[in-house]
Amino acid sequence: MRPARALIDLQALRHNYRLAREVAGAKALAVVKADAYGHGAVRCAQALEGEADGFAVACIEEALQLREAGIRAPILLLEGFFEADELALIEQHELWCVVHALWQVEAIERSAVRKPLTVWLKLDSGMHRVGLHPAEYQAAYRRLLACGRVAKIVLMSHFARADELDCSRSEEQLAVFEQARQGLAAEISLRNSPAVLGWPGIPSDWVRPGIMLYGATPFEQEQALAARLQPVMTLESKVISVRELPAGEPVGYGARFVTERPTRVGVVAMGYADGYPRHAPSGTPVAIDGQLSRLIGRVSMDMLCVDLSDLPQTGLGSRVELWGKQVLASDVAVCAGTIPYQIFCNLRRVPLLYCEA
Ligand SMILES: *Cc1c(COP(=O)(O)O)cnc(C)c1O
Repeated sequence: MRPARALIDLQALRHNYRLAREVAGAKALAVVKADAYGHGAVRCAQALEGEADGFAVACIEEALQLREAGIRAPILLLEGFFEADELALIEQHELWCVVHALWQVEAIERSAVRKPLTVWLKLDSGMHRVGLHPAEYQAAYRRLLACGRVAKIVLMSHFARADELDCSRSEEQLAVFEQARQGLAAEISLRNSPAVLGWPGIPSDWVRPGIMLYGATPFEQEQALAARLQPVMTLESKVISVRELPAGEPVGYGARFVTERPTRVGVVAMGYADGYPRHAPSGTPVAIDGQLSRLIGRVSMDMLCVDLSDLPQTGLGSRVELWGKQVLASDVAVCAGTIPYQIFCNLRRVPLLYCEA
């Protein structure tokens, strides 16, 4: 069997969930959209179900997958419904539903829903992606409560720049939110992972941690709380071929790397078809049998090359960690010019293996 695989540490997932709830002092929806950022939504939700206050997903397809797997906890649809006819399923499966636009308010008013819904009413406090305008927020709130089809409303908004710890934009967004919700007696939810970890002063009855559950920092710089996260995914494979090259020899497609000295090259069964970023340059860290080394040459579809020159104990069959507890996915992301969110979501083809420790 091809040795490429992703190990998912469910104990680490629970540790990170508990950390989110503890530092926020709030209830926490575990965000498991996009197949739990590539970690497998059903297994991750099952691992958290005993303690999670609920889950959040991007769409009803993702929510139904969790319900079909037997998840009974609350599930929030982060973009609500895309078409009004989803409301029947939302009612049937008791899903919680974001409302971010007036057409959704109207659809709920016109719907045949009998069991009143739980709605999370989203304000655009300055990210300018989705959410109601501050001027229409209170009226939307009143209409939803008045129509008889909504039992409970949570007031929510989302930050655009909470990952920038020296940026005042989150506080500006908070001020817009506070203004818009004046006089409304309802629970609130503002904080995603960077806001949970980096903005302790921002209130929230409910937090919505995503990336931090998977043990990756949302910040570019060091951060004390983020340092307490435990990586959940280990992407690993093995050295499947070794060759000794003299100085001046090219390695891989496009001769993007040329040996500077006599070099022992290890070929690893891992490539961009597995989700390893093709744009990771030579020098991107890898760990080989527990020792740090570097990627060399272009990443190809099914293989990539690493430098074994300074690791005489390593060779054919050596275990290679592409990211995990030794090489952080966030460090690989920086090398590849992306973010750990995308690194995880791109994962494919490799089997996911779940372990408890
Ligand atoms: C994805 C998402 C989150 C989780 O964000 P992280 O940065 O991964 O913690 C929270 N809230 C909303 C509305 C989202 O779409």
